[in-house]
Amino acid sequence: MKKLYVVGLGPGGREYMTGEARAALEDSELLCGYTVYIDLIRADYPDKEILTTPMTQEIERCRMAVEAAEGGKTVAMVCSGDAGVYGMAGLIYEVAGENSPVEIVIVPGITAALSGAAVLGAPLVHDFAVISLSDLLTPWETIEKRLRAAGEADFSLCLYNPSSKKRADYLKRACDILLESRNPENACGWVKNIGREGQEYKVMTLAELREEQVDMFTTVFIGNSSTKFLGGKLVTPRGYERKMK
Ligand code: SAH
Repeated sequence: MKKLYVVGLGPGGREYMTGEARAALEDSELLCGYTVYIDLIRADYPDKEILTTPMTQEIERCRMAVEAAEGGKTVAMVCSGDAGVYGMAGLIYEVAGENSPVEIVIVPGITAALSGAAVLGAPLVHDFAVISLSDLLTPWETIEKRLRAAGEADFSLCLYNPSSKKRADYLKRACDILLESRNPENACGWVKNIGREGQEYKVMTLAELREEQVDMFTTVFIGNSSTKFLGGKLVTPRGYERKMK
């Protein structure tokens, strides 16, 4: 059967990829994806055919991958992190449709919430929610509603797409919504370029996070009301400490 892998590469280079992801790339004749992600792996697969498209051409990119697979090639569509977390996995199924001759294989990867959490310590040990601040495909009112609900329910939060040139103040707006239900001292942090050159992180309070300038290569973490600063890292108690007493 014709095969189309949808592969999550993890946050950075080769060392973050799973064995299954490597095997899928090995098995593929054609590697497709957004230029930046293809560049992370290109050197490891010099003999593979490569097809890159710019950031905004997701539908076209998926259509080309599906058509190449229908034409008989084994294809890998690559995404950063996990392909099912703000990635191409859903769109690939939708483009292929109901009666596609192509077998779609989703290969999971380490999403930025998990790789970033590891850099910051242990901020997500308890229940957490993941919200994207990008309103390109989701109305801002919906994003606000989800932020407010997650804030009130005391989830730890992980924010993807926290900023872009057109959305410079969105993180500030998100913090203001969270401050309706959370203490200004609520522990927070961000991680930039996880697993890539220039990886950086910082921990701060929610009031301080409101004043931070972050870019689109950053993932933001907001602890729950129990999250604390410990040795310069963020730690969300799981509840064992009550048992230890
Ligand atoms: N599929 C990806 C998410 C794509 S949405 C995943 O599972 O990780 C793009 C957003 O993801 C970015 O704006 C940023 O918030 C986050 N992100 C992805 N890779 C990152 C990295 N290496 N370092 C920091 N943030 C990252």
